[in-house]
Amino acid sequence: MSKNNKNFYLYFVIIIGLVFFTVWIGTLRVQNSGYTRGQFVQQLENNEVAMVNICPNRDTPTGSLEITLKSGEERTLYVTDVTEIEALVRDYGLDPRVESVPEESWFLNSVFPILIMVIAFVFLFVMMNAQNSGGNSNGKMMNFGRSRARLTLGGENTIKLDGVAGLKEEKEELQEIVEFLKEPGKFTKVGARIPKGILLEGAPGTGKTLLAKAIAGEANVPFFSISGSDFVEMFVGVGASRVRDMFAEAKRHSPCIIFIDEIDAVARRRGTGMGGGHDEREQTLNQLLVEMDGFGVNEGIIVMAATNRVDILDPAILRPGRFDRKLTVAHPDVRGREEILKVHAENKPLGDDVDLTQIAQTTAGFTGADLENLLNEAAINAAMDERVFVKQDDIKKAFVKVGIGTEKKSRIISDKEKRITAYHEAGHAILFHVLPDVGPVYTVSIIPTGIGAAGYTMPLPEKDEAFTTKGKMLQDIMVSLGGRIAEEIIFDDVTTGALSDIKKATKVARRMVTRYGMSENIGIINYDDDDDEVFIGRDLAHAKSHSEEISGQIDREVKAIIDECYMKAKEIIMEQSSILHKCAELLLEKEKIGRDEFEALFDKKYPQPEEISPTMA
Ligand code: ADP
Ligand code: ZN
Repeated sequence: MSKNNKNFYLYFVIIIGLVFFTVWIGTLRVQNSGYTRGQFVQQLENNEVAMVNICPNRDTPTGSLEITLKSGEERTLYVTDVTEIEALVRDYGLDPRVESVPEESWFLNSVFPILIMVIAFVFLFVMMNAQNSGGNSNGKMMNFGRSRARLTLGGENTIKLDGVAGLKEEKEELQEIVEFLKEPGKFTKVGARIPKGILLEGAPGTGKTLLAKAIAGEANVPFFSISGSDFVEMFVGVGASRVRDMFAEAKRHSPCIIFIDEIDAVARRRGTGMGGGHDEREQTLNQLLVEMDGFGVNEGIIVMAATNRVDILDPAILRPGRFDRKLTVAHPDVRGREEILKVHAENKPLGDDVDLTQIAQTTAGFTGADLENLLNEAAINAAMDERVFVKQDDIKKAFVKVGIGTEKKSRIISDKEKRITAYHEAGHAILFHVLPDVGPVYTVSIIPTGIGAAGYTMPLPEKDEAFTTKGKMLQDIMVSLGGRIAEEIIFDDVTTGALSDIKKATKVARRMVTRYGMSENIGIINYDDDDDEVFIGRDLAHAKSHSEEISGQIDREVKAIIDECYMKAKEIIMEQSSILHKCAELLLEKEKIGRDEFEALFDKKYPQPEEISPTMA
């Protein structure tokens, strides 16, 4: 897209340039010489003029004089009436030569402008062509409505699933899709329904495109790829028609995979934003939904889409029969990173001092794309050094370049930060485990997610409960505070990392007080104005429905709840301090631990006592 835009501006500048050029050529012919009639008459008086040529113009009495002075200089004078000037010259006793009426310059007056027009149009067409085909051979002039999807046929796609390193769980989940594409009959016979759409969520560079492509490669089916932003054009209706075209094309090639990168460009939540939506995008999204609803189950088309912002997607696309499967493609953990490094080191001879394990350990938060880039830079360093293999030193240099040269600076995490995060998450995790109504812990991770969080602790998916209890809400608050408490206990200092935890705890506490009547001093009254987030302007317009006095009281109650939760949570974490250390150590080693590994820490047989000293960072 951006490349095409650049081209567009280039063409634009060229055309403007040509227009100015034409105008300039035109002015050349009527440019004033700066020589005046007064000067001419003066020179006639002084008898300085040797010869005069009169060149009348066509159709009008105007013309020009070519004057040769006795000094040999030449002058040009434009005149409004050639007969009058001829008489004047004769009066001074000169015999002017009157030339015949000149032919209009055929080239300058007719051919040249037409030529310019033709060139301009040719440029326009070339430009449109380039924009539409996107380097594809099926690009034709003016095919605005045609899909721009790039098609890779089965045989041409050499990427297989084993070229995707790490991502073990993701690959397992997608295995059935491969099977289905290979042999749809097997599934239709038993009446199994295969998802039509799979949404891949994850930061840029984590391998979403690679994964989709590998599935097509593994199943040996055609692969259509397009970016969501390709649909969003300046003309209303173009996006929708591209979607239609793409699905029609895909049906012709089924079974196949359609991959839509950056789907958030089209599938943003509709109807938000002040003052009307984006018509073109809505139309495009509607068309996409219509198409996805339109093709039958098991028709052999699987739509995969990638985004790093599931939260801004229109909920309509997540409904059954559309993107009914969501897969999170996480940042790789230490082992994943090592595997990715191995994959990309395959065609790069490594010196014997290269330690990929060690590189994997120092690159927490790097995506697959970052790691590939890292090795590539290292190879460039080696080549610059006239070497045919990569040394550890090349990688170290590349590390500085890749990490510090860009915005990724913040992604290189110091050991200290890692330690803090490990203890922080361990604090959350312990409370999840110990408190009865929350948890159990599903994963604990200290791999940065790239969207601000340094790590996360995830409980098992929540059960569908019709209501929650006061006890559970208090425990939720305690869990939220656990991270901060662990930091405090271990490092005797706190970080800004608990921002969203604190927000969450406060929100729950406030709701307890103002909505659910769970605080004695406030009583069972709803003081909460409905906080539908659909209308952003609402809060501004709505006056609070209670007095200042009540407001103050609410604030005090909220504080009391949080303070109490804090005390209790701190007590629990202090009691479990040996687990806290062990959990943090394990996290530092593995970066991501699952439920079994975490719960094993609580086993009595696991070495318990305080032999691990609380190292201050
Ligand atoms: P995304 O679509 O998530 O932005 P890509 O799939 O385009 O990321 O990944 C960009 C590049 O990063 C890939 O071409 C590949 O070279 C490398 N890469 C990313 N993840 C992996 C992985 N798991 N294994 C091997 N290479 C990877
Ligand atoms: Zn936290």
